[in-house]
Amino acid sequence: MPTKKIVCACLLILLSVSSARAVITLDGDFDHGGLDEANSSVAGNLVMLAGRDNYNAGDWKWLYFSADGVNGLQPTFRIGDNFNTGGSSLVGHAMVYSYDQENWSFFDNNARSSSAGTFTFSNNSAFTQNQVWVAYGLPYSAGRTASHTSQLVSSPWVSPTLSGNSSLVIGQSPGGIDDLGRTVMPQDMYGYKISDPTGVPDKKKIALVSGVHSNETLGNYNLEGLVDFLVSDDIEASLLRKYADFYVYPMANPDGRFAGYNRSTVQRESLDPNRYWVPPNYNNLDDIEVVGDALIADTGGDVDYLLDFHSTVNGKDGHHGLILPAYQSDPMWLNLLQLDPGVHTQGASLIDDTGAKFGRVHLNAEFSATFETQFLAGENIDRFLTLGRNFGLAFERTFVVAADLNFDGQLTSLDWNLFLAGSETNLSILSPIDAYAAGDLNGDGFNDIIDFGIFKNAYVLANGLPGFQALFTQVPEPNSKSTTLIALFCLALFRISRHPLCSGSF
Ligand SMILES: [Zn+2]
Repeated sequence: MPTKKIVCACLLILLSVSSARAVITLDGDFDHGGLDEANSSVAGNLVMLAGRDNYNAGDWKWLYFSADGVNGLQPTFRIGDNFNTGGSSLVGHAMVYSYDQENWSFFDNNARSSSAGTFTFSNNSAFTQNQVWVAYGLPYSAGRTASHTSQLVSSPWVSPTLSGNSSLVIGQSPGGIDDLGRTVMPQDMYGYKISDPTGVPDKKKIALVSGVHSNETLGNYNLEGLVDFLVSDDIEASLLRKYADFYVYPMANPDGRFAGYNRSTVQRESLDPNRYWVPPNYNNLDDIEVVGDALIADTGGDVDYLLDFHSTVNGKDGHHGLILPAYQSDPMWLNLLQLDPGVHTQGASLIDDTGAKFGRVHLNAEFSATFETQFLAGENIDRFLTLGRNFGLAFERTFVVAADLNFDGQLTSLDWNLFLAGSETNLSILSPIDAYAAGDLNGDGFNDIIDFGIFKNAYVLANGLPGFQALFTQVPEPNSKSTTLIALFCLALFRISRHPLCSGSF
């Protein structure tokens, strides 16, 4: 056979092999996966998807599957617009894809057709790997909670709660048989405390919950971002841990999450799990009971704040808190609004037996709210982790007493004595929190004139100018450090000739 013909034959064989390999196969059978595989199909380049909904029969409100055999292909995906809250909820929505279930991208083209009753999405270029995962929104699996929690076990700031063991496990979910007839095994449920035990005597207590609704994944990213901040070495986190203890319950409905459900638990799939936060039996929602009972036992039934992180799966009007009118001027909430202009306030009544009402009624919280985030095109995981961090910064701004160097919760002459002892000193070899305690209030590694200005402003704010002036009358024998500071004091007050301390020579 001539060489050219051999090459052609080989090419034909290669083409037939590659086209045989190009058959796309779909799979929704994994942790958090959600697809009606039996009614989905692939025809050439068109992937027709059927949504699955355990909670609203005939609709869908979560979608997550893998497509195998897509390398080099540019398929079009299509699903009916029988979205639970109406097809119009899909207007402006963008589906996501990933090659590793960790890093997600938005599809280039997303369009709902009301006349055709469809939502169609595709990319402008071919997939570059053979397997791709596709989802309605940024997924957060039950397994991610387990692995994130396991990483916290070794943190010096994380400890088990009264209800938990050394693996931070507070109980087991009930498991059950899901809508596809699959057995969902009972899973570990987690709870833990984040605290610096050397903090102020009367610390604030904050309860944090997420994962109540099985498809509201962004709430879990919020909470993960907040927890990552709380256990970090950031000076703001180190300070906050001195003033507040956090009780964290990251996944209240692991079975529903694992099964790829919309909204409910597997055990009671016709019930909304955020309507039965009522001890002692929580309407037989055993997952909620594990978390609710742990919250009561671990906190002694008394917290200052409870935040329950959800997501409004269908909404596009922006991230918001559902805040009881009486809570809307709470300083933490106002600080958050200032830190994150992408967040707004919506009203709440706390009539239904939600987690937020549970916080108010059963934990005597002074502030208890549901926080709602939304799947917005272009907003990726980092956005929601940052939003969680902003909650941490809001708590820090609210609770930390500025320049309280001995962490007793008050700014007094005792703090001044510590400031004086550390003044004019290079503190850069210390950890940020130890340097702070020695008077490095701006985190530059030194206790110097800038820190003096910060200390003075904080002290005047807390105790008035006479209170600040009184610090200097307590100096019996000026040493070199206090002499320097008295000079600074005089300069700071612009009253060199008026104050008795300023009239002497140093
Ligand atoms: Zn929810």
